Parts: sequence; structure tokens; C-alpha cells
Amino acid sequence: MTYDVVVIGSGPGGYSAAVRAGQYGLKTALIEKQTRLGGTCLLVGCIPTKSLLHTADVWDYFKNPEAQGISVKDPQLNYPKVLDRKNKIVSKHSKGIEFLMRKNKVDVIKGTARLLGGGRIEVTSDSGEQTVETKNILLATGSEARMLPGLEPDPNLILTNIEILDLPAVPKTLGIIGAGAVGVEFASIFNRFGAKVTVLEMLPRAVPVEDEEVSKELERHFKKSGIRTETGAKAENIRRNQNSVSLSATLSNGNKEEMEFEKLLVAVGRKPITDGVGLENTAAQLDRGFVKVDEYQRTAEPGLYAIGDVVAGTPQLAHVATAEGLIAIGHIAGKPVRPINRNRIPGCTYTDPGIGSVGLTEAQARAQGFKVKVGKFPFAGNSKATILDKHEGFVKVVAEERFGEILGVHIIGPEAYELVGEAVAAMEAEATVETMMSTIHAHPTIYEAVGEAFNNVYGLAINI
Ligand SMILES: Cc1cc2nc3c(=O)[nH]c(=O)nc-3n(C[C@H](O)[C@H](O)[C@H](O)COP(=O)(O)OP(=O)(O)OC[C@H]3O[C@@H](n4cnc5c(N)ncnc54)[C@H](O)[C@@H]3O)c2cc1C
Repeated sequence: MTYDVVVIGSGPGGYSAAVRAGQYGLKTALIEKQTRLGGTCLLVGCIPTKSLLHTADVWDYFKNPEAQGISVKDPQLNYPKVLDRKNKIVSKHSKGIEFLMRKNKVDVIKGTARLLGGGRIEVTSDSGEQTVETKNILLATGSEARMLPGLEPDPNLILTNIEILDLPAVPKTLGIIGAGAVGVEFASIFNRFGAKVTVLEMLPRAVPVEDEEVSKELERHFKKSGIRTETGAKAENIRRNQNSVSLSATLSNGNKEEMEFEKLLVAVGRKPITDGVGLENTAAQLDRGFVKVDEYQRTAEPGLYAIGDVVAGTPQLAHVATAEGLIAIGHIAGKPVRPINRNRIPGCTYTDPGIGSVGLTEAQARAQGFKVKVGKFPFAGNSKATILDKHEGFVKVVAEERFGEILGVHIIGPEAYELVGEAVAAMEAEATVETMMSTIHAHPTIYEAVGEAFNNVYGLAINI
């Protein structure tokens, strides 16, 4: 039998593409080398981290219940139960993906796929080898944690996002190398669970892809909440001791400091999984290990598409992987599809306070020659934020002066990752600042702050 589409990898990119292929009536198979479906995002990424972050949010309230008018005697964090909850959420959703495959008549093939060229794929599993034939292939093999040269992760001392999610207890001290989304999310989780956290970042600021003011606000809040963040710092000479990890840090002021942690998380980025996939048997081109694709996700090999973290040029995010998967399948099925607009991709970092952003930062907009007008509104002026006891942060709108085009929106504060949805929709609909100024926002809500920030592009916010 020859399939219409075979998807390799069951992450958010791969499984969503397989569902869509099934919906279009294409004869589809999904190949996955792990025992469970869901990829990085579901098994060791987005979902388990957000489960822990949710518990950290709840635990925050329990640390000072009197502030809410509630008396609780001696609340305890039962970490094994926290992990149990996280594991149940992951299992439930992995089973959900299996159900979706059955519902959409997608054949699931368990094993490791290797491209043989043309439409042939070799699949190796415990039960042997088989060759699958297909008209189209969607490569969605994702990414894995980058390691520092000479280091190997282990379950006990030097950790990646995989090992840290299964630590049996909260460490007393945690060092984190890298202040990108993964590093700062784990910092936010373990600090609130009681670990003493130190973050070392080589670049001059935390969350370096975000607007500079957002980085500053996160660093300020981290400091206030006891997280030591050293930017412009280099970690070297990392040593495993019997029960700890030591390293030498050169700080931004040139001082050297010896540091020792019970555990060290290495969060220095993700590398695409292209080794051993058989790309050498195809005409697909690579760019520093990432697969090069056109706007319909086509590689240079006819019938071979690539999506998600393995692809060059788009950010490594679950919703980007999904969007790319749907574009590829739409193109295969001959449906009208709209290629991704790089400036309309929301980026979310689930720290406390959270971050949600879309479009150009102020610096990027100025560098591109726009005449920029900025509107800002602090959550201190928002009554729902007061009710939630979550006053940190602001909404910042970056607009073009003459026509009020929305160039970017940058939010740090409560539920920022939810609030950014309004900004993405506004930009997608090509709404102007004026349209958003007269858009009615319900009261009392946190998203009123978004409306206020749009008004403040013209100095017209009410509540500050
Ligand atoms: C700690 C952490 C937190 C994150 N949080 C977020 C978040 O909150 N929001 C967000 O948008 N993004 C988040 N991300 C990023 C997100 O997880 C990735 O962008 C997303 O998983 C990419 O999806 P994908 O489909 O490209 O690949 P993946 O999810 O990596 O899935 C690839 C799949 O392919 C399989 N595979 C690989 N090679 C083969 C082969 N040869 N044969 C068969 N199967 C194979 C793998 O086993 C895997 O299951 C996070 C990442 C991490 C590490």
C-alpha cells in the first residue's frame, strides 16, 4: 500500500498535521520512535512545565494566605504529589492524541524512521524493520537540548529539561545556565518551590528575544523574589562533585566567582534532530543543521516537507510547529493556504510575571526606520490585577506614528500569555491603534490594560 502522507514525529507539529491529513481524507500514517505520542511539547516541554508553574502559582497564595483573608495552618508542598499531578496530565493528553489518530483514521507506526530517498521510509523497531511507501513525507522530528561542549546530562547533577522534570525532590540550590524561555521558566518554578536559584546568561539581558523593557522588568522581579540573575556572565570549568556541581563564573564586571549547586540545569538552546534521519538520501538542504524550506514547508526534495523545531527560520514554538504542519498538509491536499507571517507569531514565556509578545520590539521597529510611537500601561493601574495581587509589569504597544499601524505589543504581567491573543488578532485583522482604542474592554478584567495601553499611544489612558 502507498500512503498519501507519512508524518515522522508526533510532536504538536506532526500529530496536528496527521489529524488535518485525515480530515482531508488523505491516507495517512504517523511514525514515532518513542513509546508515547506527543513529542517534546507534551512529554517534556510545554505541558509538564506549565503544570508545575500552575502549582507554583497556587503555592504562592498558600505562602501568605492571610493576605487573602484565609487562615491555613502549616501548608505543605508535597512534591511527589505535584509530580504525580503533572504526570497524569501528560498521560491523559498522550492518550488523547492516540484517540485523535484513531478518530481520523491515521495509522500509527511505532519505530525509528529513516528516509531512503523518494517516497520510501525505513522503520526500525523492536519487532524488526519495515519499509513504508508514500507519495508525500512530512518531517517533524523536532529538537533536543543543546549541551555545552564536553558535558553530558545525567539524572542526578547536570540536567536538561528532561531530567529536571523528574527530580524526586526540590533541590536546595539550583544553577541554571541560559536565561531564555526554558531557563527562566524553570527558575520561576523552582524558586517558588523553595530552591535558591542562580541564573547565568552570557548575553547582556534575560529573555533576550523580548523587548528590552520586558527583560528589565523580569530581571527586576526575579531580583525581588530572590532569584540571582547574572547577565553578561560566562560559566566555565563545570565539575561534577559527589553530590554537587561546581563551576567558575566570569561576571559582567570581570570578577570571577566559584559557584556550587546541588543541581545544574543547562538551558542553552535546542538543536534540530536531523542526524540519522536519512536526509543525505534526499536533495533537502540544511542550514546549520536546520532543514531549509519554502513558504509551503517544501524542502528541495520533491514530496518531502519539513515543519516545526527542525526547520530553519522560524522560532522553535509548539504553535509554530502546528501552523507549519497545517500549511504543509493544506498544500499537499491542494487547499488554499496562507504562509506564516513571521511578525504575527505570539511568543510566550510562562514565568511569574508572565510574558506575551508579538511583532517588532521598539528597538527593532526603530532599526527598521519606522517613526515609532509607544503606549504603555502598568498593571498597577488595573483593578483586576489588584484583586489578584499581581501588580507587576505593563502592556507596551509599539505603533507607527502616521497611520497608527500596530507594529508590536509586549506584555509582562498577570496572564500576559493569554492577553497577547488580543494583540495577535488585532494585527492579523490589520486593526489600527484607533480601532483598538475604541474596542470595548469588559470591566474588571486584566485585558482592560491592553485597551488602556492602546489609548496611551496618544496619552489617553484613563487609569494612570
Ligand atoms: C522545557 C520546554 C518548555 C517548552 N514550553 C513551550 C511552551 O510553553 N510553548 C511553546 O510554544 N513551546 C514550548 N516549547 C517548545 C516546544 O516544545 C517545541 O517547539 C515543540 O515541541 C516542537 O514541536 P515539533 O512537532 O517540531 O517537535 P517535537 O515536539 O520535538 O516532536 C518531535 C517528535 O519526533 C520524534 N522523532 C524524532 N526523530 C524520529 C525518527 N527518526 N523517527 C520517528 N520519530 C522521531 C520524537 O521522538 C518526538 O516525539 C518548550 C520546550 C521545552 C524544552
